[in-house]
Amino acid sequence: MPFTSSIIPSLSQHEPAWWFMFRENELLVHLTDEHAHIPKISQPEELSLHVLRTQYLGQLDGIACFSAELDAAENFVPADMAFRALRPLYNVLPEEFFWLAGRAFQVMNWDRNSQYCGRCGRQTVLLDGQRAKICTHCQLTTYPRISPAIIVAVIKDQQILLANAPRFPHGLYSVIAGFVEPGETFEDCVHREVQEEVGIEVRDIRYFGSQPWPFPDSLMVGFTAQYAGGEIRVDQEEILEAGWFRADKLPDIPGKVSIARRLIDWFVENYS
Ligand SMILES: [Zn+2]
Repeated sequence: MPFTSSIIPSLSQHEPAWWFMFRENELLVHLTDEHAHIPKISQPEELSLHVLRTQYLGQLDGIACFSAELDAAENFVPADMAFRALRPLYNVLPEEFFWLAGRAFQVMNWDRNSQYCGRCGRQTVLLDGQRAKICTHCQLTTYPRISPAIIVAVIKDQQILLANAPRFPHGLYSVIAGFVEPGETFEDCVHREVQEEVGIEVRDIRYFGSQPWPFPDSLMVGFTAQYAGGEIRVDQEEILEAGWFRADKLPDIPGKVSIARRLIDWFVENYS
């Protein structure tokens, strides 16, 4: 991977760098026809932008990468540029920049949300050389929040379990997913989520792969599993409908950006 994460800039601040600048939750991009690009500049001031905070991310092929939080009270937009929500940029940003933008968003957002101690309310400061902050009063240390969630493709007789949730676009079906609770292993979480959401038992849980999901701070950990027992029942709240689908009769499924789609593609390749 050509990107190297780092906390302290080793290059001159005056060399042009990739700047991932956010106003609220939207990223500033150059727009040309169908494509978006990250601005490569020496300083945000070059674009007459007012920056509240900046964070160094590391280097991409020897070029420094920064994230920055722009003043949300301003509405100035540089020429040929626009602020865009991150997720729809998947199809228009080069892929490595899309994932770097996700990393930038998480670091920027963490910096924004951790200015004060969560325990005593006093100001925090950066901990030397670490992606961490410490409270100046009670010494509580905080790290960027990363919320692990499992996502699992359950297989039964050449069919995959897919479900439609109210939070999905109309008619879209995907694999089961849910956040890990304190004290759980990933495997515990797979058993619990599948049981809670569709009422079935699984066995033979195997690691598939993982994916950061910066909307806002998830880490999706993918698994495959085999059906072990039970009948599908849904609660009509978290899940509206669920069923077993053959590879040649899939409903609408998520787009290429997600690990959900990679799991479904894996099923199609192996169970057609
Ligand atoms: Zn404190």
